[in-house]
Amino acid sequence: MSEPKCPDCGVQGVENILSTPSKEQSRERKPWFYVAHCGECGHIYGIFTKHIFGKGGLQLVVDGKQ
Ligand SMILES: [Zn+2]
Repeated sequence: MSEPKCPDCGVQGVENILSTPSKEQSRERKPWFYVAHCGECGHIYGIFTKHIFGKGGLQLVVDGKQ
C-alpha cells in the first residue's frame, strides 16, 4: 500500500493527513462534513461527509460520488 503524499509540500504518510470537523453541526451535534488537510502545509485534500473503515482501511467518502 502506497503512502499518500502531499502534492504541495511532499510530506508522506497518513499521519500527516488531518481531518477537521466542520463548525456547522446537525441537530444531533454531528459535524456536517470533514475537511481533510495536510498537517504540514495545510493543503486541502478534499471535503468528506463521512468516514468509513473498510477492508482496505480508512476510506473517505465524498458526497455524491458514492
Ligand atoms: Zn503539505
